Amino acid sequence: MIDAIVFLGIQGSGKGTQAKLLEQRTGFQHVNIGDLLREQVSLGTDIGDDVKSTIQKGELAPNEVVFGLIDGSLKADCRGVIFDGFPRTLTQARYLIDHYNLVRVYYLDLKKDEAIQRIHGRRVCSQCGTNYHMLHHPPKKEGICDLCGGKLITRDDDSPKAIQRRVAAFFRKTYTLRSFFQDKGVLKNLPAAKSITEIQNMILEDIKLD
Ligand SMILES: [Zn+2]
Repeated sequence: MIDAIVFLGIQGSGKGTQAKLLEQRTGFQHVNIGDLLREQVSLGTDIGDDVKSTIQKGELAPNEVVFGLIDGSLKADCRGVIFDGFPRTLTQARYLIDHYNLVRVYYLDLKKDEAIQRIHGRRVCSQCGTNYHMLHHPPKKEGICDLCGGKLITRDDDSPKAIQRRVAAFFRKTYTLRSFFQDKGVLKNLPAAKSITEIQNMILEDIKLD
């Protein structure tokens, strides 16, 4: 079975950043299920057409679609996988345990208030889609994209009410997953408030690469 490492964490917890850094360090393949789904939508495939409205409503794509996309995305010489945005449910967690050698699940622990604050600061370029953050990654000129000069906007799904709802739902669902992985002895909590480098070092110490 292929080795797998999982990152769990709310939007803004920095899990995507950590997953990418670890990909460079390990040569494992970074699999972001959100990106895979969005790619299907933008390519206009049958799967894309099916999941489009599901994604827009913020609902979860069906398991068989998710499993199929993951299998299809793995390279022939894949040495290991770093999952980002997967699993989302207990069914998916069980699938993961059955089909991969699960090395570690890293949970980037961020307090609810801090999570809400981080999401609030997010802006996206209306032209090229580049992400910014008013505190952590501001543009050189306020409200303007560094890359293309486009106007920066707040995403529709980043309205205060939508954020509150999403954050509450995240903590509910993730609690269940954390207990599941804790029982399997693979869960490790990481303090998401620390710097990117500090967290990455904690991970590298923990997995002890050869
Ligand atoms: Zn732009």
